[in-house]
Amino acid sequence: MSLMFNGIGVSRGIAIGDAYLLRRNQIDVTSRTLSKKSVPGEVRRFKRALKAARAQLLTAREHIPKDAPSDVSSFIETHILMIDDSVLSQRPIEIIKTELINAEAALQQQREELIKVFGSMDDSYLATRIDDVNHVIDSVLRALDDKAEQVVGAEHWKGQIIVADDLTPADTVTMQHHGVAGFVTETGGQLSHTAILARSLGIPAIVGVSSIRRYIKTGEIIALDGRLGMVLAEPTDDMLSAFRRQQKDTRQRQRELDKLIDTEAITQDGVQLTLSANIEIEEDLKALKRVNADGVGLYRTEFLYMNRDTVPTEQEHFKVYTKVLRALKGSPLTIRTADLGADKQVDGHEASRSRPQAHNPAMGLRGIRLCLSDTSLFIPQLRAILRASARGPIRVLLPMLTNVAEVAQCLRLIEQVKQSLRDENIDFDDGMQVGGMIEVPAAAIAAEQFVQHLDFLSIGTNDLIQYTLAIDRIDDQVNYLYDPLHPAVLALIRTIIDAGLKGGIPVAMCGEMAGDERYVRLLLGLGLTDFSMPPNLILETKRNLIGSRRSTLKKQVNALMAAQTTEERQALLDKINASAPEH
Ligand code: PEP
Ligand code: MG
Repeated sequence: MSLMFNGIGVSRGIAIGDAYLLRRNQIDVTSRTLSKKSVPGEVRRFKRALKAARAQLLTAREHIPKDAPSDVSSFIETHILMIDDSVLSQRPIEIIKTELINAEAALQQQREELIKVFGSMDDSYLATRIDDVNHVIDSVLRALDDKAEQVVGAEHWKGQIIVADDLTPADTVTMQHHGVAGFVTETGGQLSHTAILARSLGIPAIVGVSSIRRYIKTGEIIALDGRLGMVLAEPTDDMLSAFRRQQKDTRQRQRELDKLIDTEAITQDGVQLTLSANIEIEEDLKALKRVNADGVGLYRTEFLYMNRDTVPTEQEHFKVYTKVLRALKGSPLTIRTADLGADKQVDGHEASRSRPQAHNPAMGLRGIRLCLSDTSLFIPQLRAILRASARGPIRVLLPMLTNVAEVAQCLRLIEQVKQSLRDENIDFDDGMQVGGMIEVPAAAIAAEQFVQHLDFLSIGTNDLIQYTLAIDRIDDQVNYLYDPLHPAVLALIRTIIDAGLKGGIPVAMCGEMAGDERYVRLLLGLGLTDFSMPPNLILETKRNLIGSRRSTLKKQVNALMAAQTTEERQALLDKINASAPEH
């Protein structure tokens, strides 16, 4: 009988293959008391396991594909540093010697100690370090266990789908090297290191499918859809052929889309469109170039602050921005100033450790509020952006604006920074455009005021929807209420677009809605012409929009806006999309 499992799809793609169950989480950590004379042997056993776990990491490092993003290697490097650190390489030996216990128990004791230290810091950045500590300790424990399966040497996994409790970043790299078709894990989330690596390495993957290993056997054929987060066990022949068709269609679709790379983005009735990219890390630039995006509409700079103890210096910011500019070869770069806080916590820095914890971080000191309250965080970034503006077309984008007083404060600060650069004879673009993200409902309603002070607006629908509908964007339990079609959301988007038109400044959208195939035609009908999205969605959006007539969509959208019920709105949206090129 076929069985279907649902989890969190973290890396798109269809995979079909034999399941390979990795049974290795039953790590034996029973404590044994040692006689004094068996201590040296136990220490040697521990050292051998440490060496084996280290060797596995070194092998994984060797296997990192040349074109893999740098975060792939940085995860592995972090684990190598950890395994070499005395807290893992020396301290367990001391515990073995003083407490006369076996290596597993000593390691476990040290793990608990480290978790206590990290945990007491009440810090989300360090929580990700706990994951790292756990991964490294588990790999040593596995090396201590003769019966545990190791990922190293898994040549026979080619074309198989690995089903495991959890995988370390090193496992993920090794698997990619051995050509696994995909993987499913019982634990993990969208933002776990393993999920990030699966996306970077292009391995279809699903995490968080609890207890799946109880229902699947090694060698049994399974299929997974990494976009939908769905795993099928013992699929019928019909199901398998449907998956194979989908796999083929996806490849064919991509080939068709690739033909649009150099096609001009213009609608059937001659409306010129801008389709730019949202980027976070330098590596996104590769994808952006591949699809020939119209520059960067949103550079989320928070990544620069992550996985470190100090805030980046002005020079570090400058170096990264100039590197991105060089890669863009003259296309515009919109740099959003640090939007830290709420779902983008980076509490590892000394500066943030001293701040009291917010009871409701999404409504607390985040985004521009944080930068204005701590200009030592803001000014180095502004200086770097301005300095880089002398090297290429840069626009600056201010996140989370609530009122125009914040805009005035930012403009004053930018002016001060410009003056100091002039005093120091440092070049910058005096005409650099300053834009604001409209993602708080109050700012959307008052958009006409913002238009008077800014050079452009960009609609952040991720937050705009969260705040308008009062639903935490990262809380699964209220996810069902996340509704871009809600009349209040649509009315706010229209208000912002109209305010820009009236005030004569451009309005873009950089929230996820701008690249969502269900809504892009609706947005065009609302008057949006500037869309910024993850690079891999650009060609699909282009195909959708260049086959459309804005004039027709405008009428259809007006009817949708006047609809009274969710069902009516959905039916009208279906009608709008029914005339999309694919249908
Ligand atoms: C948004 O809120 O829509 C947005 C683009 O910003 P972020 O997702 O980074 O909060
Ligand atoms: Mg936002």
